[in-house]
Amino acid sequence: MHYYQPMWTLVGGGMKTLENSGKPMSQVLPKKADWIKQRVVSFDPANNKIKGLPEAFETPGVGSNYSPLYVNNTFESLKNFKQGNAIFTFPATPIKCAGAPQKIMYIADEYLRKNGKRDKANIIFNTSLGVIFGVKKYAEVLWEVVKERNLTVNLRHNLIEVKPDSREAVFQNLDNPEEFKTFEYEMLHVTPPMSTPDVLNQCAPLVDGAGYLNVKKETMQHVDFPNVFGIGDCTNLPTSKTAAAVAGQIGVLRKNLSAVMAGKNPNSHYDGYTSCPLVTGYSKCILAEFDYDGNPLETFPINQAKERRTMFHLKKDFMPDMYWLGLLNGYWEGPKYFRKAMHLGLK
Ligand SMILES: Cc1cc2nc3c(=O)[nH]c(=O)nc-3n(C[C@H](O)[C@H](O)[C@H](O)COP(=O)(O)OP(=O)(O)OC[C@H]3O[C@@H](n4cnc5c(N)ncnc54)[C@H](O)[C@@H]3O)c2cc1C
Repeated sequence: MHYYQPMWTLVGGGMKTLENSGKPMSQVLPKKADWIKQRVVSFDPANNKIKGLPEAFETPGVGSNYSPLYVNNTFESLKNFKQGNAIFTFPATPIKCAGAPQKIMYIADEYLRKNGKRDKANIIFNTSLGVIFGVKKYAEVLWEVVKERNLTVNLRHNLIEVKPDSREAVFQNLDNPEEFKTFEYEMLHVTPPMSTPDVLNQCAPLVDGAGYLNVKKETMQHVDFPNVFGIGDCTNLPTSKTAAAVAGQIGVLRKNLSAVMAGKNPNSHYDGYTSCPLVTGYSKCILAEFDYDGNPLETFPINQAKERRTMFHLKKDFMPDMYWLGLLNGYWEGPKYFRKAMHLGLK
């Protein structure tokens, strides 16, 4: 029996009995209300789900390169594009590879040009961030790229709902949360809000307020538990979450773990190295590499903020083996020594 609350019960003396003081929930719930017969186990207001997803992924025009289930929808949407808005989103949570939500926009732009449909498309990047990219050096070039290619960028726009029946996407203005804007779409590429797995984010002693493993940014040792270390996307290391960052962390983790197991202090420090190969088309790439402070940490002695074909081939043809053979087998610890060698004699 589900009783509504509160019950004012004073038994005896002509007052109400328990039975007369309550009613089953099924009798009192307004007819239009949905009764969700499940127990709430936690609240997560920072990671609100997007209304209409994932169902909308089963409808035309909606895809996401962030899911093996829906990545093929992206190319299908491009192939079937007739005319209208092609919208690319960036959520209001930390995400894997902060460049990927806009890389696909540049590729889509070039695909539509190659297929004679570009003049039928309004290409729009709706990002919850207040910047196009977190590092000034690369952001400046990306602003030039979007201007030159006639791509619209709307900052502080956060996707909150997809309405597949009317092919509309609703965005909240994060600077004025009462304001919502609805965009029609012909194509919608969604980068979903992300979190750590529940098994981790529900373990309060291990995580910070956002659910990430709470580690020291230099040593990667847990802030409270000296025998716990973290690496990769599940940690709150304040750098961009990439496989390149993981490579930059591995050597530090190995040295610090060995030190602690030998009864010594963990003295090796991670500088926040991360990298984002910002593919800006079918043959161009800006290879962003930077540290915790947003200072460029470029491997090659050339300006990597420039769009280059060489960097595109490095990304497309060389990096997959670096990942599959090097990183996954524990051999690739980032380009630190190459960088030092290539910058010998340079300031
Ligand atoms: C579209 C896209 C593009 C990207 N592009 C780049 C790029 O160009 N360059 C780059 O460097 N990085 C890129 N990245 C980011 C890169 O893939 C990640 O940063 C990297 O894989 C992080 O590695 P990780 O081991 O920390 O996490 P993950 O690779 O996410 O691995 C976590 C593992 O934990 C497992 N797991 C989850 N829950 C449990 C559980 N309860 N028990 C046991 N196991 C569990 C998962 O199955 C998974 O295998 C991209 C990512 C995406 C999605």
